[in-house]
Amino acid sequence: MTDWTRRQIGGLVGGALLGVAAPHIARGQGRPRVIVIGGGIGGATVARYLADLKSIDVTLVEPNSTHVTCFFSNLYLAGLRSLASLTFGLETLAERHGITIIRDSAVAIDPAGKGVELQGGPKLSYDRLVVAPGIAFKFGEIGGYDEAAAKIMPHAWIAGPQSELLRRQLKSMDDGGVFVIAAPPNPFRCPPAPYERASLVAYYFKQFKPKSKILILDAKDTFSGQELFQDAWSRHYPGMIEWLPSQFTGAIKAVDVAARSVVTEGETFRAAVANIIPAQKAGLIGEKAGLTDASGWCPVDPVTFESTLQPGIHVVGDSIIGGDMPKSAFSANSQAKACAFAVAASLTGSPHFPPHLFNSCYTFLAPDDAFTNALTFASEGGKIKTVKMFISKVGESAEARRRTAHHAVGWYSAFTADVFGGGS
Ligand SMILES: Cc1cc2nc3c(=O)[nH]c(=O)nc-3n(C[C@H](O)[C@H](O)[C@H](O)COP(=O)(O)OP(=O)(O)OC[C@H]3O[C@@H](n4cnc5c(N)ncnc54)[C@H](O)[C@@H]3O)c2cc1C
Repeated sequence: MTDWTRRQIGGLVGGALLGVAAPHIARGQGRPRVIVIGGGIGGATVARYLADLKSIDVTLVEPNSTHVTCFFSNLYLAGLRSLASLTFGLETLAERHGITIIRDSAVAIDPAGKGVELQGGPKLSYDRLVVAPGIAFKFGEIGGYDEAAAKIMPHAWIAGPQSELLRRQLKSMDDGGVFVIAAPPNPFRCPPAPYERASLVAYYFKQFKPKSKILILDAKDTFSGQELFQDAWSRHYPGMIEWLPSQFTGAIKAVDVAARSVVTEGETFRAAVANIIPAQKAGLIGEKAGLTDASGWCPVDPVTFESTLQPGIHVVGDSIIGGDMPKSAFSANSQAKACAFAVAASLTGSPHFPPHLFNSCYTFLAPDDAFTNALTFASEGGKIKTVKMFISKVGESAEARRRTAHHAVGWYSAFTADVFGGGS
């Protein structure tokens, strides 16, 4: 056995250990083979739904052994959830659903030869490929903010060690300090989440550091759910949260990590803790494989989620140009199911119907005050367009908001079981 195979087998999870020993997996040996790159929300869902059809061999490539959900990570920052409660292993996908899981990163895609090159070894072959690598950051756009700076001024926009770092900083911050959140330009992962973060950190400050303030330096002039947030901030946290739109500051231009300061066009703000959320683009493998256009995101067919730039490769989740669909876990999951059925149809001739696409998000303003939205989408003229929309309103009763917060917790359990293959 070579070093590579030993390492690979060590990286295979659960049931995959029994089934897959050969590192080079050839095509055309029976059932069609689909490789899914990325075991986050979109990738895990596609893999699970394809594998459950029982007619396709599914291999999931993901460098991490566990996934920490970004959704609910703002509750963790406020001390309301543990990180362990947001962490999911991929074993169930292997053990219960028969997916081969390879713990590695895809470093190159060969669309003509239908192959994926892994960081740790030779090529895997596929009949269809699904790419779901989430987001990457445009580090160059804020002067002085790079991966090293993110270890001091965390973005915490990919949950895990970054979230832990930000939580530690908030806990050790002196009362009376200023917590600066730099909110990114559109489009970005989870449009209401920077403002949910401000709300929940304010809840934490109100209990433990009541003289502290939160300053949001926004790259935009309006934001998702603005009325609902501003109403909640005045009810729950009067005088604690200040939001400065781009038109007042010219938005963040640079950071000075040593001085812990954030520089806008006209002013420098000192931060006790700085949370810099940079502009975003598709996960890096998307760019490397020629799946992105000039926007930095991946254009796809809104019915099959097949790339319009690389036939035979599908993309789902935050990486895509999703039209009216926001970059959310719910959207990624909904796209992934539509994509799984389209991929199956192309490989096995199973019927394929135009997808019903959904998004529903729960956003916390305080532990027992949450709002929700629910949207349906359809493909129209090659784009994903909103068909119907519901959103909570300012002035709803406290009881309605408490119920929504309660529903959010139920949604979290059911949703993560759907994605990671748990539940009964
Ligand atoms: C603070 C916050 C709060 C949020 N709250 C909500 C919410 O309440 N509701 C909601 O619906 N959404 C929410 N979201 C958004 C949600 O987390 C994302 O939209 C969702 O995770 C996107 O899924 P994805 O599959 O595209 O990416 P991810 O879930 O990030 O998965 C991408 C995966 O690809 C892997 N990967 C990347 N490159 C490679 C490679 N080359 N090879 C192999 N694997 C690779 C990564 O390791 C990762 O596991 C929130 C986000 C944030 C930041």
